Order: sequence, then C-alpha cells, then structure tokens
Amino acid sequence: MNKFIPISQPSIGQKEIKYVNDAMKSGWVSSIGDYIDKFESKFAKFCGTKYAVAVSNGTVALHLSLAALNIKRGDEVIVPDLTFIATANAVSYIGAKPVFADIDKETLCIDPESIRRLITNKTKAIIPVHLYGHPANMNAINKIAKEFDLKVVEDAAESHGAGIDGKLVGSFGDCGTFSFYGNKLMTSGEGGMIVTDNKKLLQRLRFLRDHAMDSKKKYWHDEIGFNYRITNIQAALGLAQLERLDKFIQKRKDIFRWYQNNLSGMKGLNLNFTKNDCDNVYWFVCLLIDNFNQKKRDRLSELLKERGVDSRPFFYPNSQMPMYKKSKTDKKNPVSNSIYSRGICLPSYYDMTKKDVDTVSKVLLTILNGDS
Ligand SMILES: *Cc1c(COP(=O)(O)O)cnc(C)c1O
Repeated sequence: MNKFIPISQPSIGQKEIKYVNDAMKSGWVSSIGDYIDKFESKFAKFCGTKYAVAVSNGTVALHLSLAALNIKRGDEVIVPDLTFIATANAVSYIGAKPVFADIDKETLCIDPESIRRLITNKTKAIIPVHLYGHPANMNAINKIAKEFDLKVVEDAAESHGAGIDGKLVGSFGDCGTFSFYGNKLMTSGEGGMIVTDNKKLLQRLRFLRDHAMDSKKKYWHDEIGFNYRITNIQAALGLAQLERLDKFIQKRKDIFRWYQNNLSGMKGLNLNFTKNDCDNVYWFVCLLIDNFNQKKRDRLSELLKERGVDSRPFFYPNSQMPMYKKSKTDKKNPVSNSIYSRGICLPSYYDMTKKDVDTVSKVLLTILNGDS
C-alpha cells in the first residue's frame, strides 16, 4: 500500500520555528508584541487594504466585524447556504438572523440574484464567502449593497490571495475576514484577521477586541466587549507563513493543474471552475461528480481511505442543520441542495508532490472505473 496521503497538512519550516522561538525568548508570549504589529501591517499590505486587525480565529473575526458594524438583534444577514457553519453562527452570536441565499452553480459562491430575492426591510448585511479559493461575485454584490444600503463582510477564510481583476478578496467589502486554522492556505495554529480601509471601523474593531476598554481611562468600560486577541506566538507563526504565502498559492495552482491533467479525460468529473476575471487559489481541489449522490460519494470516500487516500465531503447546506431548519431560504435553494451531495475535496497541501497527486488520481480513477 502507498503511504497515507492526508487531505491537508500545514508546512512548518525553519522560518516558522525561528520566529516562534524568538517570540518565546522575548518574553512577549501573550497579546502584546512586535510580531502582532508586523503580522497585521504585512497582511494589510498583502491584501491591498489600509488596515488589519489580528484576532483569535476566523469565526470571531466574523462576529467582531458584525458587532463593530453595529448589526443588532433581530436584524437579517444574508449568507450563502453552502459554506462552513461559522459564517451563519457568527450572525447568530449577534442575535441576528442568518438568511440563506443559494449559490452559483459554477463558482459555488453566493448567487447575487438570490441575495436580491431575499432582501427585506430587516436586511442589514451580506456575508459573501469566497468558497474553496474562488472569489464571490463582488462587483454584483457591492452594487446590491449600495442600492439597499447594506454592509458587506467578506468571509475570505478559504481564499487568501484570491482576486478579481487583480484586486484581492477582503478589499471589496466594508471589511474582510480570514482564518489561519491549521488546514487553511496559511496557519498561525489558530488565528484570524480582519482587513479594512475604514479608519473608524478599525478603531471600533480594536476597541471591541480588547474588552471595549476606554483608551484614556484604564479599566473603564462603556460597553460589553470581547477578548478576541491573538498571541504574539501565534502572530510569529503567522508572519513566517505570510512570508511564504505566494509560494503556497503557486503550489496550489500547480496541484490543481496536475489533477486536471490526470482527471480531465474522464467523463462526468468536473473540477473547480474559475471565472474569466478571477484568480482562484484552490484551497482544495474539488470534484463534482455527475449522477452521484450522498451514498455513492460516501462510499467513494471509504474506498479512497482503504487505499490510503484521505478526502472530505463538501459542506452541507447550512439550512439543513437542526438550528437553521426554520430559517428563510430562497425557495429551498435548489442549487445548494443538488450540488453538495455530489462534491468531494481531494488532498491539497503545500508539501504534496506530483507523485502524490498521480497516486491519488490513479486510485480515484481505478475506483470510479470499477476495476478495483
Ligand atoms: C475556516 C472557516 C471559518 C472559521 O475559521 P476558524 O479560524 O476555524 O474559526 C469561517 N468561514 C469559513 C468559510 C471557513 O472555511
């Protein structure tokens, strides 16, 4: 049997170890330190935004953004149905209601026309998600937001460095959020970031991140804030990864190309779609299989695992989960509900070799052709 090929793994090199060691030796191990400042300014620069605020993870980045934008209990926030659960949960933490829009069948990102159909006088914000590395249609979304005076928080947790016509995700909305969880394009262990061009919003984010402490009167608080800070140790790891991010992204593109060369000959297999004006960073190589269903897909995953290849299913539509079953959708979101059960993600990570990709492809084709 082949060596086991995981779905994802971080690439931790000498630079990461050096920076983390340095942070430890400095004694600044908690949430004050040079690495935090450097990580924030370098990340803002990378995204082409003026400011960045580092936080404990990508989920609280969303929660903090909504709080700082003054989204309130009872408000409605439109999110895509097909995404990681954190997008909708962040809306719930506020006491607001997630309303689930359908996705575009090609990009798998939120469908602007579906957003339009769901707007009511309670709608206050939209959270487009740049899913699996592909940018959502930000030009159409910003147009709708302007027309109805809605805030836009981009959930870019899966798409560091992706862009539209050369402008990077995170820089289109009022703010954009990122995750540095271990399986994301870059990691800080746990961690997140919010980027924005709006100075007032920046100040509000920093204030709420640190217990809403009065900047002049120490230990005085006019509001209930949060402890959503990142540590200097995490920021050291994050900075080292950020300095390698261009390479990480290039490798993801290579990996996609290798899979594409190996798999595009087989009928009924569809790999990640990329719109003309978009730069896809392929967080995961995704496979949509014609005429598949959940049972067949789960069986395929099992057979892959038996042959030493890990995989992961697409996200389930969030409106299928018990806590969101009664939430508003766009006529039950037919695209989200037909796509998720046919989708599977394949191993995609920086340290993968072409040989690993060839192995995964061969195993996959053998199973699908039924000659196993
Ligand atoms: C990973 C992810 C998050 C949450 O990030 P954490 O750092 O794990 O909290 C939010 N949204 C999406 C789309 C994600 O993929």
